[in-house]
Amino acid sequence: MTTSTAPATTRPIGRPLMDPPAPDLSAQELPSVTVTRLRETFATGRTRSLAWRERQLQQLLTMLETEEAAIAKALGEDLDRFPGAAWSADIATTRIEVRDALKNFRKWARRERHLLPFSTWPSRGFIEREPLGTVLVIGAWNFPFYLTLGPLVGALAAGNAVVVKPSELAPASSRTIKDLVEKYLDTDAVAVVEGGVEVTQALLAQGFDHCLFTGSPQTGKKIMEAASATLTPVTLELGGKSPAIVTADADLDVAARRIVWSKLANSGQTCITTDYVIVDRAVQKPFLEKLLATVTAFTEERPDGQPVINRRQYDRLLALIQADHGGQVIAGGTVDDERCLIDFTVILDPSPDSAVLAEEIFGPILPIVTVESLDGAIAHVGRGPKPLAAYLFSGNRNDHARVVRDVSAGGIVINHALLHCLSPQLPFGGVGNSGMGSYHGKWGFDTFSHLKSVVRTWTRPDIPLLYPPHTEAKARIIRKVL
Ligand code: NAD
Repeated sequence: MTTSTAPATTRPIGRPLMDPPAPDLSAQELPSVTVTRLRETFATGRTRSLAWRERQLQQLLTMLETEEAAIAKALGEDLDRFPGAAWSADIATTRIEVRDALKNFRKWARRERHLLPFSTWPSRGFIEREPLGTVLVIGAWNFPFYLTLGPLVGALAAGNAVVVKPSELAPASSRTIKDLVEKYLDTDAVAVVEGGVEVTQALLAQGFDHCLFTGSPQTGKKIMEAASATLTPVTLELGGKSPAIVTADADLDVAARRIVWSKLANSGQTCITTDYVIVDRAVQKPFLEKLLATVTAFTEERPDGQPVINRRQYDRLLALIQADHGGQVIAGGTVDDERCLIDFTVILDPSPDSAVLAEEIFGPILPIVTVESLDGAIAHVGRGPKPLAAYLFSGNRNDHARVVRDVSAGGIVINHALLHCLSPQLPFGGVGNSGMGSYHGKWGFDTFSHLKSVVRTWTRPDIPLLYPPHTEAKARIIRKVL
């Protein structure tokens, strides 16, 4: 191990940045050929049938349950994941979504009848959910299977043809996703296109009926800009700085364990990880003692440090630790420059304008901000962009109510972290800078459906109220009815 004083290096060691695999067709041709093929399939009506949707979902489930070894191998190569973590982080999470969709998609697809106002009598109204058409799913590298196959569930359940574009920064996973999709799913309707920025831009230039993008807010802006050229609607699943607030009457042992657990998952490279902690000064000292003891215990299985995806991310994280952040490094701070490992690092009270408190960290670094009260914690969160998640550790129900009311975040978990993401009964998505739109469960289905309003009426009686001549008597009746 070297200490954090080691200069950031530009040596091409550690996990290399990947060149997109060379497809048979060029980066421009492949998207166009693929999208044309999928559009033709959609036009046949094949993907609309409930039987087709069920078959695809069933195949996806079989794939997840049969191909654990291949998935774990790819995740090990890309992210140094323990084999067991492949199941909990990418397979089980996606499987929850597939099973929920298989159980419920027929119900979600059902016509939704509504009573209409008296003024429209004798009309009847209903909402028809129709598949949007050919849609695009662009994934991130940190949970490469979950973030591509998870959105695919909603898109297939809703009866769409789908192009999946995995992240080029997790190349083994990208290749495995392509191989598995081709082995298990209807390849005339579901295609995986591999590649980086150029391929993604070429895909977006084709125009889609919807695009669900998972990635950073910075790239999200570029996706939205490219999508606007063809008026492709977007769902943006972005990131941000998700805080964990620890109040004076929190269970500090549990808070410490759950916060460190959430930060260690995937080495902190998780969109809803605890980005930083805000702790009440009244319990700062005992909380820090418990936190540091937990860090020591939980990092024993990786004594050399936490692996990060590639040298670019490693250098970025190293710069955050080495910067003049004004805080005190109370744990970690060491790195392994050869293997791109970063020790779980805790920084106490960095200055408010330091990069580590301004940027999404996305790595195993945990800043701690000390405040005087819950009001101070809520004010702190409110000064920044709206986070993707917010966590509250408190035994006080009034605190729970206050945070639910006063903290605007994509989702909130009280006395734990990450759990909202595992529940298809809840929509998952950001707000403001952390994203727009949502998916998971029925929300994924609706994201990839058009909710078509249909009014059916009869030709008799044909009351002439709306037709000329527009007399005063008619106007009086219309005023009463409308
Ligand atoms: P990223 O924004 O760098 O890339 C995501 C995808 O966009 C990749 O497939 C990439 O090929 C493509 N891309 C990158 N630049 C592009 C461009 N200029 N034009 C077109 N396409 C482009 O994100 P990342 O580094 O893979 O993931 C990390 C970020 O994603 C973090 O901010 C994290 O919080 C966020 N994230 C959000 C969620 C969520 O569900 N909300 C989940 C995981 C990660």
